[in-house]
Amino acid sequence: MADSAFDVIIIGGGPGGYVAAIRSAQLGFKTACVDKRPTLGGACLNVGCIPSKALLQSSHLFEQAATGLAQHGIGVGAPKLDLAAMMARKDGVVGDLTKGIDFLFKKNKIARIEGAAKLTAPGTVRVGKTDYTAKHVVIATGSEPAPLPGIAVDERRIVTSTGALALTKVPKSLTVIGGGVIGLELGSVWRRLGAEVTVIEYLPAILPGMDGEVVKHATRMFKKQGLTLKTATRVVAAKTAKTEVTLFLEPAAGGARESLKSDVVLVAVGRKPFTDGLGLDSLGVAMDERGFVKTDGHFKTNVDGLYAIGDVIGGAMLAHKAEEEGIACMELIAGQAGHVNYAAIPAVVYTHPEIAVLGRTEEALKADGVDYAVGKFPFLANSRAKATGETEGFVKILSDAKTDRVLGCHILGPGAGELIQEVALAMEFGAASEDIARTSHAHPGTAEAVKEAALACLGRAIHV
Ligand code: FAD
Ligand code: NAD
Repeated sequence: MADSAFDVIIIGGGPGGYVAAIRSAQLGFKTACVDKRPTLGGACLNVGCIPSKALLQSSHLFEQAATGLAQHGIGVGAPKLDLAAMMARKDGVVGDLTKGIDFLFKKNKIARIEGAAKLTAPGTVRVGKTDYTAKHVVIATGSEPAPLPGIAVDERRIVTSTGALALTKVPKSLTVIGGGVIGLELGSVWRRLGAEVTVIEYLPAILPGMDGEVVKHATRMFKKQGLTLKTATRVVAAKTAKTEVTLFLEPAAGGARESLKSDVVLVAVGRKPFTDGLGLDSLGVAMDERGFVKTDGHFKTNVDGLYAIGDVIGGAMLAHKAEEEGIACMELIAGQAGHVNYAAIPAVVYTHPEIAVLGRTEEALKADGVDYAVGKFPFLANSRAKATGETEGFVKILSDAKTDRVLGCHILGPGAGELIQEVALAMEFGAASEDIARTSHAHPGTAEAVKEAALACLGRAIHV
């Protein structure tokens, strides 16, 4: 086979694309992966999941040093912030992990092509002046920040998440437009480091789509932590001066306009599919009205031999969802039974404490007329949480009232992002709350709160 001819070419080296490339190579396909970034890992590793989690951890430690250690009888004085060192650590984490993917590509003999790819014909991908061919081409080009009409991003005063991950100075004030995951994670980072943070959300509540009880508790929690939340409010215009931005706001339902000045504005109102310059129109690739590439449920587009996975096809815009799709897509191409169980994909907001959600919300079950049971357990009654001093929040499990099958789980509390995983496994196996309740959980552990919530579904919680 010529150097430019492959069995599989994957366009995009993010979590969807690079994982698909590795699975493709494992399945014996001669595989290439094209990305226009100099480093692999896509949005997630370069400007998303990883740098944000690095800064969330650093800023959490800063806050702990300032206010969290006294309860343990530890006095350290006021901590000093070295923002440049914090940012350098974050860049180092990103650098190590992106280099790790280069290593995995070499190990799996995947050809890494750097440059912007354009589909010039079915099975032909042009990068620069070279045409590469493959029997199967997978689009994994991801997403980009959604713009807000009238608000011009300059990545200095008005930034997207990318700019907010690389500020060189703690802003005195930061206004976040969008009370979703990015807004609350990055708003928390800069609040912990000393900024006055205001979050403006168009809808009546933050974290739309999440379980109502979680949203209620999270709202209280973020306010207590010092975030100012302005819900049911829309931004109608922005005026940027040398040292500040003035936003003009109105109640979402209409009413008097007010203005709000801040040093920096973060626009975090969602992300949109990225397909610029790919040549999809000339190939007649079907896309929906929002620009997501349409697939048939098995990742096939309407063009023979062309597939799509990850953020670019819509659904939950999560790295692990993109990864599962990459694996399933390649297994289906190989004639195997690749499958993604969209009902059991957890999502985590990495604030402190974390918020983790999985499956159906109580509101959705009610709307669908499902007869369900609710089991709740507060971390205040969990011995490990008490010992560590992290008692905020609860575990809530929803199960089918007739079959006891677990339908959803919503956790706000210490390590929620890890705790949710056992329930995801339970749901993957079609388990009942009784199965979780009868599983021995090590004591003392915060996971005991999950067991107790499962017991509570059956009316038999022990410690409340
Ligand atoms: P991407 O990661 O967007 O990768 C697409 C790649 O394709 C890019 O590298 C791009 O350069 C390349 N590309 C595009 N067009 C071309 C072309 N024509 N030619 C060559 N290359 C091209 N998700 C989580 O699950 N957990 C988190 O904690 C989390 N945190 C996040 C924090 C932030 C600040 C952001 C912005 C996102 C976060 N996400 C998180 C979402 C996550 O990053 C995405 O869901 C994930 O990256 C999607 O993977 P993907 O492979 O579909 O696309
Ligand atoms: P999001 O959809 O989570 O939140 C956007 C918020 O902006 C929503 O609450 C929405 O109602 C609000 N909004 C929309 N238009 C508005 C307007 N004009 N004025 C005020 N508010 C407005 O999107 P995001 O926070 O930008 O994140 C983008 C994607 O990245 C998400 O899909 C998310 O899954 C992913 N992500 C995941 C993680 C994680 O898993 N921890 C972290 C960051 C990002």
